[in-house]
Amino acid sequence: MSELTSRFQTGDPQHLERRFAARAVGMQPSEIRSLFAVASRPEIVSLAGGMPNLSALPMGMMADVVHNLISINGAEALQYGSGQGHPKLREQICDVMALEGIRANADDIVVTTGSQQALDLISRIFIDPGDVVLVEAPSYVGALGTFHQYEASVVHVELDANGMVPEALRQAIKSVRAEGRKIKFLYLIPNYQNPSGVLLPADRRTEILEICRKEEIFVVEDNPYGLLGFDRPSPDAMRAEDSENVIYLGSFSKTISPGLRVGWALVPPSLKEKLVIASESSILCPSNFTQLTISNYLADQPWRDQIASFCNLYKVRRDAMLESLTEHFPASATWTKPGGGFYVWVTLPPEIDTKAMMPKAIVAKVAYVPGTAFYADGLGSWAMRLSYCYPTPERIREGVKALGGVIKQEIERRHSGYELKN
Ligand code: PMP
Repeated sequence: MSELTSRFQTGDPQHLERRFAARAVGMQPSEIRSLFAVASRPEIVSLAGGMPNLSALPMGMMADVVHNLISINGAEALQYGSGQGHPKLREQICDVMALEGIRANADDIVVTTGSQQALDLISRIFIDPGDVVLVEAPSYVGALGTFHQYEASVVHVELDANGMVPEALRQAIKSVRAEGRKIKFLYLIPNYQNPSGVLLPADRRTEILEICRKEEIFVVEDNPYGLLGFDRPSPDAMRAEDSENVIYLGSFSKTISPGLRVGWALVPPSLKEKLVIASESSILCPSNFTQLTISNYLADQPWRDQIASFCNLYKVRRDAMLESLTEHFPASATWTKPGGGFYVWVTLPPEIDTKAMMPKAIVAKVAYVPGTAFYADGLGSWAMRLSYCYPTPERIREGVKALGGVIKQEIERRHSGYELKN
């Protein structure tokens, strides 16, 4: 074995670091990834991961869809396909988006390997090192990781119980530009935001669109949770109001299955070609097999009913979480009351450091994601994201109770001055 081979095999980190491209330095595991190993131990109630709950998906029906696909159309399903995505699925995606007021042309859709790939492609197309991307405060950890890899400078914009605050956006644009920096796009999740669970109301959507049009800033609207509203449909997508300045990202991960890895970008026509070229260079084409699985599922199965049954399942869990938060969390904690999606954002007294508290929570057999994961600038130590999508309502209650106990102890410890003396 040569010295070089052995160094790679033993993973000598310093040697490897020197050989990497500069951009690889930004490739760090997310806080969520490192948490997964611990949180997935069976004795731990994980309120950490945002895994869709597939217990509501009839597996026999999915097996039939896949079986029929291969027996009737296997030669196409198992072949390479179009770089832009299967034309039939792109037509069907237009029907799905129509539920949120979008009138789209299938030719402006690029199918991606989950919407995560679309985030990567958009970043690749737009971001030069140092360019500014505006995001909500807090924002989706997977998007922050992607922006970081492309060496963007991420600027957070205040978010309240009604999503991004338009006036804060105006101020952020002004101060970034006063520093002479370039803003490439605004990234936001208007429906049941990850991690906060909040919804951006229609009037703010319009105002934010107006600001961005005027300032010539693209809006990247990431909408994986829009159809998961529990009591009422979410407002029309921002893309429904502006087809020129909005890059819309959709996904079947939360409405059908994340394992199929099918998402899409609906882009202004002038951007489509670039997106297809960028995608072809990373994956050649999205999987025909999974695209056609989704296509046949949409064509033959009651997919709207299926989404409704996912909503029922998540709503029961949301209720269990909100009730048990009221029962078990200290009076000094506040939290969002999501009308859909997967997440509750909890704000604790500022002296609590949720990252430092994590080992204590694990001892109490509960896991969450510390707020710092959702900020690019190290803020968020006083907050945490709790997901209610996956555990049973009983486990959610158990987990929230245990976590409430840990937080109360932590507050008491701080107040008793123990920290100072030790
Ligand atoms: N955007 C947001 C806001 C998400 O929460 C997720 C998944 N957790 C994604 C994008 C990526 O989803 P996928 O790649 O499975 O479509």
